[in-house]
Amino acid sequence: MNGKVLSQAKRTVLARRTQAQQRAEDNLYSLLAQPDFLTNYNNIQEQILVVARSYATKTGQREQQAILDNLRISQEQIICNYGYDKGALTPQYHCALCQDTGMYQGQQCKCVSAEVVKLLSQQSNIIYPQYTFSASTDTVNTLAYAKSASWCDKYPTVTHKNILICGMTGVGKTYLASCIVNKLISLQQEVLFITAYDLNKQFLRIHLADIADKQILTEAMENIPVLVIDDLGSEQMYNNVTEEYLFALFNQRLYHNLSTIVSTNLTPKSILTRYGERIFTRIAGKSNTLMLELVGKDKRLNK
Ligand SMILES: [Zn+2]
Repeated sequence: MNGKVLSQAKRTVLARRTQAQQRAEDNLYSLLAQPDFLTNYNNIQEQILVVARSYATKTGQREQQAILDNLRISQEQIICNYGYDKGALTPQYHCALCQDTGMYQGQQCKCVSAEVVKLLSQQSNIIYPQYTFSASTDTVNTLAYAKSASWCDKYPTVTHKNILICGMTGVGKTYLASCIVNKLISLQQEVLFITAYDLNKQFLRIHLADIADKQILTEAMENIPVLVIDDLGSEQMYNNVTEEYLFALFNQRLYHNLSTIVSTNLTPKSILTRYGERIFTRIAGKSNTLMLELVGKDKRLNK
């Protein structure tokens, strides 16, 4: 996972801590303007010293402590009278484990991981966050689902870097592709989901952009650890654009050993016909691609 995401997650958690402390301080500041609160507050500060002295001299500790406890009870009462919660003067941390420090028992706290997953999900461009392996009701393609889930668990140490999901319209290719994306995100992996239609539009933008902007536009797609392209073959073929940019993208990703997952209505043979040999070997080559063919009736027609 990219270090930027982790540091942003840590910053979010620490910002919560500052905010909780700030809120408690603001509450105190407002309450100090109330004479009854102020008097009681000053009494507490004085009594804290008296209690400390009683412990040092070992005389009347219990009595002095009881006075302090009563003053604190009165304070709570006063706070409530002014419409605040009992705990308004103590920072109310979002995470009870780490008190929003991001560290718990010497390790990164769960709340940071949760924040990482949230950020990765936002950055992934995923359209269907609800499509997950556990929510799937597909009983026909169980092997393809099992293989995909196991691929995600092993990622990035997978035998096949790429996945090609083939099958007719409506057999659940987008569903499976989304399951993979959501699973990888839950494992704190960086993924980008894009439809072939949007990818093609992006290629056109890149093609028409200035040299300086080309780099910025291609960077995310070229460098994201897992790129998922949904419904390849549905896009229009722009002359000098679609094929050229697809090849450059696949080639670049293969060169850097990054994973590309493609779902398509096309058969491997029609991928070869439509895009040519050099693209075919990069996304459907047996040595680097896990081939999954989904079967079944068009689910959309049953609805
Ligand atoms: Zn925490």
